[in-house]
Amino acid sequence: MTDPRGRGAAPSPRMLKCPNCGAPNLHNGQGKTQACSYCGTEIAVPPELWPPPAPPPVTPIPKASPWLGVFGCGMLILMALAVIIATLLLNQLPK
Ligand SMILES: [Zn+2]
Repeated sequence: MTDPRGRGAAPSPRMLKCPNCGAPNLHNGQGKTQACSYCGTEIAVPPELWPPPAPPPVTPIPKASPWLGVFGCGMLILMALAVIIATLLLNQLPK
């Protein structure tokens, strides 16, 4: 049986090695730098461990006013009527 949680995963990818004292620091998942818990040196967090960027705020889609819907519907009906009338008129033209 294989462990479904970590097959072939890199060992402790969230461990940051302090460049000053070499102490392992557990990445706290916040920010792009982290202070070493032993000597206080700022450790640069590799980009793959950076927290995901916050998703852009969802702007609600402005609701179309009901009048626009009625107007659009009326325009469609008017266009259909115009086509029908034009067809009738063209058919009644003396040849
Ligand atoms: Zn350190």
